[in-house]
Amino acid sequence: MVLFMKLSLFFLIIVITPFIFFGTVKSSREASISSDAIEYEPTINKEQEHYDKVVALTFDDGPSNYTDDLLDVLEKYDVTATFFVVGTNLNTKYNTVMVRLLELGNEVGIHGYSHKEFTKIKESKVIEEIDYTQKLLKSYNIEPKYIRPPYGSINNSLKKIIDYPIILWNVDTLDWKYRDALKIYNNVIDDISDGSIILLHDHYLSTVQALELIIPELQEEGYKIVNITELFSLKNITLENNKVYRSAK
Ligand SMILES: [Zn+2]
Repeated sequence: MVLFMKLSLFFLIIVITPFIFFGTVKSSREASISSDAIEYEPTINKEQEHYDKVVALTFDDGPSNYTDDLLDVLEKYDVTATFFVVGTNLNTKYNTVMVRLLELGNEVGIHGYSHKEFTKIKESKVIEEIDYTQKLLKSYNIEPKYIRPPYGSINNSLKKIIDYPIILWNVDTLDWKYRDALKIYNNVIDDISDGSIILLHDHYLSTVQALELIIPELQEEGYKIVNITELFSLKNITLENNKVYRSAK
């Protein structure tokens, strides 16, 4: 009996104790790792949310046969943009691409119904240009948030009747004129700064090719590339109807 008790004590000291001791050490080590992780995670999030430089990409005149290609590039770099569409282009041919455009988180604004210059037609016609396009967009369940008048033509009396924020641009790529990817890229890189709105067009292959150069370069330079809503939100600017915005500065 005594021998049995001695053996039990021996077992307790020699065999069990190390397990208790190391078990405790291990669990305290785990506790310290997890508490480090808890402290570290918010720091990463803060860095991810903080951008010194942010710019918006905008595409006018679509949808077109190149919209899908543009979406490929945007998706590849995890970037979204704002598309200012023309009512006459919103036909069933582009139904699938419009759905994809929205599913990827891009947004849509109105660029008129027939691309007529607003300052050269009657005000009642301007309202029609906007209303027709708005109704077409409704069939895609799109509630457009912004207007970009064709050619950027606007005046004070038109501003009063356009009950949307009016979004122009401050970086003009002239992609419609040059149709040359390198030239379009250079126009962006030369003029870009924090808060810029970049004007591109939806129906040129050279614009798709230029985008492949522009996005990685801007990201390399530390720019976050976003759509119009995100740009103004990140800059804490509340967009107002009947007002013109060329950048978020
Ligand atoms: Zn246009």
